[in-house]
Amino acid sequence: MLGKMMHKPLTISSLIEHAGRYHGATTVTSVETSGEVVHSSWGEVERNARKLAAALERLGVAQGERCGTIAWNNQRHLEIYFGVAGAGMICHTINPRLKPEQLISLINHAAEQVLFIDATFVAAVGQLKPHLKTLKHIVLMGPRDAAAAEAVPGILFYDELVAAEGDDYSWPELDENMPSSLCYTSGTTGNPKGVQYTHRTTVLHSLGGNQPDGLAISARDTVMAVVPMFHVNAWGVPYIAAGVGAKLVLPGAKLDGESLVKLIDGEKVTLALGVPTIWMGLLQALEKTGSMAESLTRTVVGGSALPTVMIPAFRDKYGVELIHAWGMTETSPLGTINNLLQKHEDLSDTEKGSLREGQGRPPYGVELRLVDEAGHVLPNDGVVQGELQIRGQWIIDTYFGHDSSALTMDGWFDTGDVATIDADGYMIIRDRSKDIIKSGGEWISTVELEDIAMSHPKVAQAAAIAAQHPKWDERPVLIAIKSDEGLTEADLLAHFEGRVASWQIPDKVVFVTELPLGGTGKVLKNKLRESFGTILLEA
Ligand code: AMP
Repeated sequence: MLGKMMHKPLTISSLIEHAGRYHGATTVTSVETSGEVVHSSWGEVERNARKLAAALERLGVAQGERCGTIAWNNQRHLEIYFGVAGAGMICHTINPRLKPEQLISLINHAAEQVLFIDATFVAAVGQLKPHLKTLKHIVLMGPRDAAAAEAVPGILFYDELVAAEGDDYSWPELDENMPSSLCYTSGTTGNPKGVQYTHRTTVLHSLGGNQPDGLAISARDTVMAVVPMFHVNAWGVPYIAAGVGAKLVLPGAKLDGESLVKLIDGEKVTLALGVPTIWMGLLQALEKTGSMAESLTRTVVGGSALPTVMIPAFRDKYGVELIHAWGMTETSPLGTINNLLQKHEDLSDTEKGSLREGQGRPPYGVELRLVDEAGHVLPNDGVVQGELQIRGQWIIDTYFGHDSSALTMDGWFDTGDVATIDADGYMIIRDRSKDIIKSGGEWISTVELEDIAMSHPKVAQAAAIAAQHPKWDERPVLIAIKSDEGLTEADLLAHFEGRVASWQIPDKVVFVTELPLGGTGKVLKNKLRESFGTILLEA
């Protein structure tokens, strides 16, 4: 007797359908480019996404074709996520801070048909337009706007496109292996490369990444995605929030600490996600405004290493738990997330705290291993460092537009990160292989130096780089921003004593007022190496 289960493809439209049907009244809050805070609902987002899908079909966009976005985190961007992918097209979120030549090359390379833009980018896109060969339509994400119509002749208006459609569009049946979205890597170590996700990988990432020991977002949460929607699909938060019916807050263009404090308090945000630089700004703003961020219980921090001093800073005063996670554009992004196990329950707060500093363990769906330079698998003993490799249900195989697979012969993706993994699977990123400092044949972790520098109370931010050295090949140089003018180079170097071996202490500190950040909020180490990489040769 053969039995059979139903086959229901894992599609992005199934997530938004669920949100519309079972969480239709739940709020979606959006900060518009104008600064206005708009409240709508999953029901409205679902309806508008279907109307947008109908409008795109009417404009002649076919399944498998790409639509780009250059936009902030807002409601229309959310509708585009679901409307484009739900209709079988591919939503390509573009980092607005790329250089014009890079934008032209990405848009042409993706053979973009439609480009959705926020008002902020009208002038810039107007200049790019003559170079965008495949583009059929540019759509301003908003109502009709006379200035935009003049700046970009032929521009269409999102609100008009959506308003012109009825409510009768139903999502097409799609193969779950069809591509649904495209994101490029941040390009901090080279030119950005495209990663094309499928409906299946996106839904599996939403389910696997959101288990109780994963992001654990529920219908009782108010989630604020501070991570940009062009950075690995805002880490999958829009899909997860739709799938569980969480209240979603999209903070728009202004991500400074004070704007975020206002939103956290105003919308009663329980969980927020973003890169460490954002939380530094938030901490300062909490101090300044006196807000206690009462509603906030946890924040997920990833994208670059979490400065460990931030954990007690949030926990002790504000009762906010910082959850450290690691991932990449190539891994959808969730690769590990740091939560404790049952056997850790009796540990002291300090012991628990130090376990929480690392990047955590893989959820179901992901496997990790370490290899040496010859590709031999290394032990998971928490001590031996190696190249981190990953495989799983939402991990890249081949970059967009490339002919050959990005995987090793035996099917693993080499992350370019250097890490340790302990016997329980807790992974700690020691560095990126391109950033690590090789001094006289020994490795020095820039992540560790930065963490020590940032534990100095008079340092606001710090980055360590490898500077060329005539004797040792490379030596560490620290580039730092002071939070107190009284800080001297000697003070800061003294802070390293006893915290690392003496030969790992930086040779020099350069104080700056700003660090170069990429569009996703990460320090651009390659820029720093260009500026300061030869500073030790100049002496
Ligand atoms: P991207 O795909 O451009 O976002 O960059 C992914 C890279 O960011 C990873 O390979 C890591 O080098 C770095 N990264 C992400 N999360 C973390 C983290 N929690 N700690 C340290 N590095 C991280």
